[in-house]
Amino acid sequence: MPDGSIGGRPLVLVVEDEAALATMLRYNLEKQGFRVEEAGDGQEALNLIAETTPDLVLLDWMLPTLSGIEVCRQIRRRHETRNLPVIMVTARTEDQDAVRGLNTGADDYISKPFSMEALLARVRALLRRSGAVPAKGMLEFHDISMDLGTHRVSRNGRAIHLGPTEFRLLEFFMRHPRRVFTREELLDSVWGKDIHVEPRTVDVHIRRLRKGINGDNELDIVRTVRAAGYALDTEQV
Ligand code: CA
Repeated sequence: MPDGSIGGRPLVLVVEDEAALATMLRYNLEKQGFRVEEAGDGQEALNLIAETTPDLVLLDWMLPTLSGIEVCRQIRRRHETRNLPVIMVTARTEDQDAVRGLNTGADDYISKPFSMEALLARVRALLRRSGAVPAKGMLEFHDISMDLGTHRVSRNGRAIHLGPTEFRLLEFFMRHPRRVFTREELLDSVWGKDIHVEPRTVDVHIRRLRKGINGDNELDIVRTVRAAGYALDTEQV
């Protein structure tokens, strides 16, 4: 699993040289909870793929420097990215090309102009298939259950109500139990790399999370690791 998926918020690389379309894609993807990186040409796309290990690439066909097809070929050639999900974006008149794109190794394609709903549906379907977004299911840790489909959280059978940030924070911890994360890592993964908030914001939400999940006389399962960060853990030392 690439590092990009650590947050439970999959990272989508948008490769598109039309700035207006790239902006619109970013806006809509972020609204749906995805993290987004942008590349304006083929070479930049390959560089960013190596640097950021995205969970999915939305790849325009017609690009400066390297065509989408060439980018896709190189993605498939490299061992680390051989299974990276790719959706090719083509102009409507290029249906023949789309078929070629699929032959080159794209997992899916969509023709311009497309509706955002159609695009988002494909992105989600492909991410589910690739395992970056697990089917809506249950996460369990110790006596806590998290239903990702209904967004219900419970501890020892008792319903727990969390704000959206605390929910995402807990989901992230539940996906990586016992692992210690720094405030910066939590910010990158739970809030997103492009959002600039103070590291101590994390402390505020950790406090709220604790308040939400730790009932009277219940074990505090959020471990503070001095000078390091936080972990979901039943051991406090
Ligand atoms: Ca283009």
